[in-house]
Amino acid sequence: RAKIIPFAQHGIRRDELSPSALKVTTRLQEAGFDAFVVGGAVRDLLIGHEPKDFDVATNATPEEVHRLFRRSRIIGRRFRIVHVVFGRDEVIEVTTFRGDGSDLETTESGRIVSDNTYGSMAEDARRRDFTANALYYNTADETIHDYHHGVRDVEARKLVMIGPPIERYKEDPVRMLRAVRLAAKLGFSIDEATRKPIGHLAGLLKDVASARLFDEMLKMLHSGASWACLTRLRAEGLHKGLFPLLDAIIDQPGGEDFVKLALAQTDRRLMEGKGISDGFLFAALLWSNVNAEWQRRLDTGEKSIPALLDAMDTVEARLGDRLAIPRRFLATMREIWVLQPRFEIRNGSRPYRLLEQPRFRAGYDFLCLRAEVGEVPKALAEWWEHFQFADGDRRESMMVTDE
Ligand code: ATP
Ligand code: MG
Repeated sequence: RAKIIPFAQHGIRRDELSPSALKVTTRLQEAGFDAFVVGGAVRDLLIGHEPKDFDVATNATPEEVHRLFRRSRIIGRRFRIVHVVFGRDEVIEVTTFRGDGSDLETTESGRIVSDNTYGSMAEDARRRDFTANALYYNTADETIHDYHHGVRDVEARKLVMIGPPIERYKEDPVRMLRAVRLAAKLGFSIDEATRKPIGHLAGLLKDVASARLFDEMLKMLHSGASWACLTRLRAEGLHKGLFPLLDAIIDQPGGEDFVKLALAQTDRRLMEGKGISDGFLFAALLWSNVNAEWQRRLDTGEKSIPALLDAMDTVEARLGDRLAIPRRFLATMREIWVLQPRFEIRNGSRPYRLLEQPRFRAGYDFLCLRAEVGEVPKALAEWWEHFQFADGDRRESMMVTDE
């Protein structure tokens, strides 16, 4: 049974929601269905964060939802949900209340394969992961329906698994990653009973589809607390086996400094509302690996550029298909890396040609990171900073002839 919490106790006004979310719940309710804003958005509003997106839960089936909204589409197989689109790119995700799982299709290890049985709101609440994520906000009367003491736990700033944690992690091992990500992002602690099994169950992640892992990895990197996420992953022992490369990256001499710097910069850009490039991010994450391979080859007398290309191939092969970095990111990463030795040449026509490269800016930003951790002289990054903005005469006078 849900505890119904009135506005006076939680203080969330309906106009704090996205107008689109409000439109969705209102139209569903007018058509005679139940509809609530649910999940991360309610949790975030309770702690005064701006929600990233809005999810709606309803007792209407995906087909019924789809029929009510012209700009909507049904997506997903494992979970069928409806995306209702507003404006250029706002998407409200509408899910139908899930059943309590008694007739779920699971694998031997207890993992859920298919979950499209519908149920009541109480059953839906029990299927969610953390108590903080199982709050239902009724836009009609501004109440919160709270089945699992979620408001209390949000106030105590802690993540608590609904139901027996071990069982819930076995159903879906990605919940372990979600615990880490949400705790880092929200600054919450993870309740001891919820946290404790994680170390032992980390191995279950090997059965999760690599596309889903990559998705979750991206969410961590975009969370605004990416360094905290990574640190916490390690603390919980989740990086072993999961991101085999993450070990290799961080354990590389200097690797930790470089990754930390790149992620701190990413978090800062997100806080300032600036965009980030995933290709750049992964280029930074993998660089210490590539660099180590590159240096090793240089030591055996290989020429700079072929040695670097070789190093890139080696690291890419080592990645294998575990993390399944999409092709388009790989291409950007390679473009950024391969520019690096070219920054060292500061005479003749080559600096001019480098300026014309489409990836010059990303390559230069990358060079600055390397300079900051002492991998290349700071003076080199400064030279390029001046060179790119200087006029023709000034540029000529900047040529470094003794190189
Ligand atoms: P974010 O701020 O990252 O959007 P969120 O909690 O809203 O966090 P979503 O991935 O948008 O995360 O999921 C929406 C809601 O769906 C969650 O709040 C939770 O109730 C439920 N949910 C998502 N993933 C799972 C899962 N793996 N197991 C159980 N419930 C889940
Ligand atoms: Mg969400």
